[in-house]
Amino acid sequence: KKPLYADYLQSHIRTVPDWPQAGVMFRDITPLLQNPKTFRLLVDTFVHRYMDEKLDMVAGVDARGFILGAVVAYELNLGFVPIRKKGKLPFLTVAEEYELEYGSATVEIHTDAVKAGDRVLLIDDLVATGGTMLAAAKLLGRLGATVVEAAAIVDLPELGGSKLIADNHLPLFTICDFA
Ligand code: AMP
Repeated sequence: KKPLYADYLQSHIRTVPDWPQAGVMFRDITPLLQNPKTFRLLVDTFVHRYMDEKLDMVAGVDARGFILGAVVAYELNLGFVPIRKKGKLPFLTVAEEYELEYGSATVEIHTDAVKAGDRVLLIDDLVATGGTMLAAAKLLGRLGATVVEAAAIVDLPELGGSKLIADNHLPLFTICDFA
């Protein structure tokens, strides 16, 4: 069930306690990207999973989802669209606001980023509460696209995001999790 190399990849994720605030265990993927062997294995894990899937586009979530999503899109011979934090996209946008532990956040997408009926792979680095991934999926849904799967490197199951995503009938793929 687990992807090949999942443990090897997970061993290159760095945990930074109490960042950006006390009580948060930040799962830092920069070592995975920095090492050329793990970067390639990481990208190839996603490419291998989706290479036979009928897809029209890859969407990546601001900001670490851009790094991964763009390379995976390129390797799958697909285009890439960014889902950005509020106020960054220059053209017409649709927006979704979602709740954070303290306050709220908003993600946006260009209205012409995908077409109705497009089959889209949605990529971010990590699922915590699932709010970001679900808001991004809602944006794609509002444009008439189908999210074939949401994909991330890391799941933090104790924060409930993967369950929330499943409850919303959105397929989710993650390489590893931290309990
Ligand atoms: P959420 O919307 O709660 O699922 O949070 C997911 C987003 O916040 C992702 O874009 C992650 O990059 C970031 N994030 C949340 N919690 C963590 C964490 N513990 N370590 C690293 N990134 C995190």
